[in-house]
Amino acid sequence: MTNSTKTLCPYCGVGCGLEVLPPAQPGKPVNRDSEGTPIWQVRGDRNHPSSLGKVCVKGATVSESLEKSRLKYPMMRDSLTDEFRRVSWDEAMEAIVNRMQTLRLTQGPDALCMYGSGQFQTEDYYIAQKLFKGFLGTNNFDANSRLCMSSAVAGYTQSFGSDGPPCCYEDLELTDCAFLIGTNTAECHPIVFNRLRVHHKKNRKVKMVVVDPRRTQTAEAADLHLAIKPGTDIDLFNGIAYLLMRWGRIDTFFIDECTQNFSAYADVIRHYPPELVARNCGIRIDELEKAAQYWGDSERVLSLWSMGINQSSEGTAKVRTLINLHLMTGDIGKPGAGPFSLTGQPNAMGGREAGGLCNILPGYRVINNPQHRAEVEQFWKLPQGSIQPQRGRTAWEMIQGLETGEVGFLWIAATNPAVSMPDIKRTQAALKRSPFTVYQDAYYPTETSAYAHILLPAAQWSEKTGVMTNSERMVTLCPQFRDPPGEARPDWEVFAEVGRRLGFTEGFNFKTSAEVYAEFVQITEGRPCDSSGLSHDKLRTYGPLQWPYPDAWPWLEGEDLEQQNRTNKRLYTDFRFNTPDGRARFAAYHSKGLAEPTDEAYPFVLTTGRLYGHWHTQTRTGRIPKIQKMHPDPFMEIHPQDAAKLNIEENTFVEVRSRRGKARFLAKITKAIAPGTLFIPMHWGALWAEDAEANALTHPNACPTSLQPELKACAVQVKVATEE
Ligand code: SF4
Repeated sequence: MTNSTKTLCPYCGVGCGLEVLPPAQPGKPVNRDSEGTPIWQVRGDRNHPSSLGKVCVKGATVSESLEKSRLKYPMMRDSLTDEFRRVSWDEAMEAIVNRMQTLRLTQGPDALCMYGSGQFQTEDYYIAQKLFKGFLGTNNFDANSRLCMSSAVAGYTQSFGSDGPPCCYEDLELTDCAFLIGTNTAECHPIVFNRLRVHHKKNRKVKMVVVDPRRTQTAEAADLHLAIKPGTDIDLFNGIAYLLMRWGRIDTFFIDECTQNFSAYADVIRHYPPELVARNCGIRIDELEKAAQYWGDSERVLSLWSMGINQSSEGTAKVRTLINLHLMTGDIGKPGAGPFSLTGQPNAMGGREAGGLCNILPGYRVINNPQHRAEVEQFWKLPQGSIQPQRGRTAWEMIQGLETGEVGFLWIAATNPAVSMPDIKRTQAALKRSPFTVYQDAYYPTETSAYAHILLPAAQWSEKTGVMTNSERMVTLCPQFRDPPGEARPDWEVFAEVGRRLGFTEGFNFKTSAEVYAEFVQITEGRPCDSSGLSHDKLRTYGPLQWPYPDAWPWLEGEDLEQQNRTNKRLYTDFRFNTPDGRARFAAYHSKGLAEPTDEAYPFVLTTGRLYGHWHTQTRTGRIPKIQKMHPDPFMEIHPQDAAKLNIEENTFVEVRSRRGKARFLAKITKAIAPGTLFIPMHWGALWAEDAEANALTHPNACPTSLQPELKACAVQVKVATEE
């Protein structure tokens, strides 16, 4: 008997299972952090099917962040002193509801916005977007997943007829060839990488190709590293397709029987001969041929990608041209093969299921589909036409709405846009002029709390019970195992109470998160992400389960349960897709390149990214000494040739400028970055370092389909910093 709780790591989309134990265990010294504070013990859950007992440094140290810098009580900014003062929940709620009601009447519902988070549990997402899209009548609910994986959503939806990664982690151990593109998996999704690395090391025939302008730890482990120029991914994919066509390494049966639009695609790829592609991408022809050969020779090809593909002004086109390769070789719907997007946040996947973006509705429905809107309206017992037919504002469009005065109320929850948004100085200026911002978070201060009018304390992971879905569609119940500090409350509970206070008693009369989840799973019935057979009870009894998991599935045990679980590991195993005719769609795209190419004034491409220990804007990891020690300072990587030309020395300050702003970093001179390219991690905001915000430099130009900004690349100049 142990008094441990099984849950999920609240950091990244790998979704590792954790087992946590109270600080004091019989017969053992109390577990304490480096400052002597008793902390919960954390270890990997050996029975979690996604991670098999493994955790990285973030998961292992998560309990050190639970007590520090917590927001414990509602606070309101005093109009005279401009300081926050503690208020009751009642007073805060009344101010929020009054403001929402007034604005709704005077400016209409579209003056209201909520910006949520992939840190939400599914129940939080579901209630928030139900309130905004269904009951308030505005689709202005978006989440920080917009900055993270909305291109993957759009790409899957257009190619397959609906969202949903078709693969599972077991494929990492069954593939013959792994293509990792725009993902530093070794640092950003380490436990996924461990599984692949072990398989790769054990099987000499298994190939690993890494496509990344940086020689990352991931690239170090590869058989082939293609250090392409930023923004040339589509050239590369079309160039590989050209060679596969020329060599006859394509699956004509699959193309004929299971796809549409191949001839338009073939017309495009004939324009991508190796000489041109190698030149455009900045690689050698033999490297390109080797990549195509690995793909063509392999029975089962698995591609993995994350921000390097998604955070692009042509993100959807990149995802779709990568999927094209899988369709032309039939590498999908079978073990070890398929296009597999790795989500950044722990429950970005749950957000996709629950309608957590401004263009989607729960159950993988989309706003611009009248039938989907009608189904949701009926389910929520709302009059026809209650849900607006146009998508709402994206995260960036909310910032623009603050600039124009069209947005009069912004509710930000569990995210830190004053660091993470593109063009951060413009974002901060817009937040500053916001007439009314509610900031709901577990931590205080953050960079964003400085812009709020009302602060609401949120119970975080460990302090509330809810569900999260990881990158392989594995759904895990995360039970509450400790009390929230002060008066902090679960996000869903706050949203539901505001709904009731606004007069929508019927729609928000939930007593527990289990009731919320029970309603959510019903709305997914018959949809591609059907989770109608899941419940808190079932997840508590069985442990993590993958969707689809229809209601018709009985409660099973032992081998029967294992057999049942095997049936939903992969999507499209019958090679029928979610399009009206069941065929997947090829996409014919030419490469457009970066939204902001380099020029004489701004001759370097800046690419941004993440480090092994830190998580996003450091709201948690900045408060963990071990992680702070690993990554104490912000820095900029530059190639030795470029550094020599500019007289930049190791560990001295440089000033980086773009058309939007400037920042200072310590120079790190390394051959890991290609000449002409710079790298800066995105983790530092004003709270952690002065004048070192990577997003002071980035721009908000977005993919026209997914509306995901190109946070990965912008044009900059760099010079030795002068003292000011
Ligand atoms: Fe947590 Fe991701 Fe690390 Fe797993 S890999 S322990 S989910 S941060």
